[in-house]
Amino acid sequence: MENEIVSKNFIERIIDEDIAEGKCETVCTRFPPEPNGYLHIGHAKSILLNYGLAKKYGGKFNMRFDDTNPTKERIEFVESIKEDIQWLGADWEERLYFASNYFPQMYEAAVKLIKKGKAYVSDLSAEQIREYRGTLEEPGKKDPSADRSMEENLALFEAMKNGEFEDGTKVLRAKIDMASPNMNMRDPVIYRVAHMTHHNTGDTWCIYPMYDFAHPIEDAIEGVTHSICTLEFEDHRPLYDWVVRELEYEKPPKQIEFAKLYLKNVVTGKRYIKKLVEEGIVDGWDDPRLVSISGLRRRGFTPESIQMFVDMCGVSKANSIADYAALEYCIREDLKVKRPRMMAILDPVKLVIDNYPDGEVEKLTVPNNQENEALGTREVPFAKELYIEREDFMEEPPKKYFRLFPGNEVRLMNAYFVKCVDYKKDENGRVTEIHCTYDPASKGGNSPDGRKVKGTIHWVAAPTAKKVTVRLYENIVDEDLGVYNEDGSLNLNPNSLQVLDECYVEPALADAKAYESFQFVRNGFYCVDYKDSKEGQPVFNRIVSLKSSFKLPTQA
Ligand code: ATP
Ligand code: MG
Repeated sequence: MENEIVSKNFIERIIDEDIAEGKCETVCTRFPPEPNGYLHIGHAKSILLNYGLAKKYGGKFNMRFDDTNPTKERIEFVESIKEDIQWLGADWEERLYFASNYFPQMYEAAVKLIKKGKAYVSDLSAEQIREYRGTLEEPGKKDPSADRSMEENLALFEAMKNGEFEDGTKVLRAKIDMASPNMNMRDPVIYRVAHMTHHNTGDTWCIYPMYDFAHPIEDAIEGVTHSICTLEFEDHRPLYDWVVRELEYEKPPKQIEFAKLYLKNVVTGKRYIKKLVEEGIVDGWDDPRLVSISGLRRRGFTPESIQMFVDMCGVSKANSIADYAALEYCIREDLKVKRPRMMAILDPVKLVIDNYPDGEVEKLTVPNNQENEALGTREVPFAKELYIEREDFMEEPPKKYFRLFPGNEVRLMNAYFVKCVDYKKDENGRVTEIHCTYDPASKGGNSPDGRKVKGTIHWVAAPTAKKVTVRLYENIVDEDLGVYNEDGSLNLNPNSLQVLDECYVEPALADAKAYESFQFVRNGFYCVDYKDSKEGQPVFNRIVSLKSSFKLPTQA
């Protein structure tokens, strides 16, 4: 990406203009999640975009829970969301806000609109309101309550607040234009009666503001300059602007929409993730197969890799779909030089070196990462009995198979040249043991006399090996069948989790700590599971394999 053109995205150009025109001095952005689920990769894009802009312009980034809807919100979600945002590195400093704390100001704002003749209490039911709203072809009809006097409206709205009406019997509507071509402007409901307990304000309120009314007020109160949201709110922008104009805020915030991040063939929506969790198909919101932020973290993704991915996707107004392979590319790029490369055998078969001294354990000094000297070296024990990958031996090799087969010599990575002299099978014809001789003069894996070997395989010494569980993951849905069935249910992939119980790793990995990640040479990148590992007994999750079909757009 050397010749990458550093250009500004469309939001930065808008901000530059606003600063140049004196509309604002710097920026204040916010991330406003509804605490009704865990965050996912799409939210990460929004968080890093908002935080990134604040940092770039030396402005502020606010964290605000949009908790104006009392039905679905839970404390568990509030805590998880905070943790995820902190992990991503977006710092709201001391600016952690809850929209529900502004209920008094929102109430006052509604009163102000009533006093200006810009809002009225309606007796219509939800169904009638829908009927009266008209269609895209037909204008709406005037609400019979629209001409109530200001005094009557004030009294009724106060009665709504005081709990004098049943749910659904009265609403407060903004008085805008029932004939507007934009349906959102046809006297939208801005307050409703709902006798519900709120997780933050308890039973203080029995009327709750609607999103389109509440959101601009929240932004204005906090001094947000640029309120960045996703495209589905584009048609709501006239209403956003109407609210800030009618409430006469000195520094009106500006709404800007960008396209959501979608991952091809990946379950991303909060709704669907929630379903997988509730039906017990996955191991909670942080199942390593999910693209929830906590799932990605548990799988072994890093904040850096997610930032890189989000940057690669860019910010635009046009919907586009990213490839999961791009996300995999980013984590490989991040870990390949940063983390040690160790040896692990996932599908073991025993290799015995006939001419190696019985009982001897030799310590070989091995670089931790050939591309990063700063990671230093470690000692890896070597012995007469080793484990190698079953697929690294064949009785009858096809052409171009350069690994072990009878009579062939290969390099044991960082150790010695060994030549296959014999092998044993069980009654089912399965290979149980491979016998080799080694050349002591090839120590370190170097040729003693210029003779060449074509294959290099990895190994783990049997006497000191640590037996561990390794988990391999695939997409939770079947990409070939299509993610969704006709009835909207998910096409689950029955092989999305594979558990390997008999894997052998170097003894140095026995003490690996939760979230630590490693490259297992020739096998991929792995991360220690925080939930299922025990002291001295790590469980490894495969983050990603080593190979990729993904090409950066610039390389294509
Ligand atoms: P979902 O689409 O998964 O149901 P949501 O939009 O209901 O999520 P919110 O908590 O309302 O979730 O979203 C918080 C913020 O994150 C909003 O500003 C929203 O626009 C943004 N956001 C949600 N999904 C994406 C996405 N896929 N890409 C970018 N931003 C997103
Ligand atoms: Mg939402």
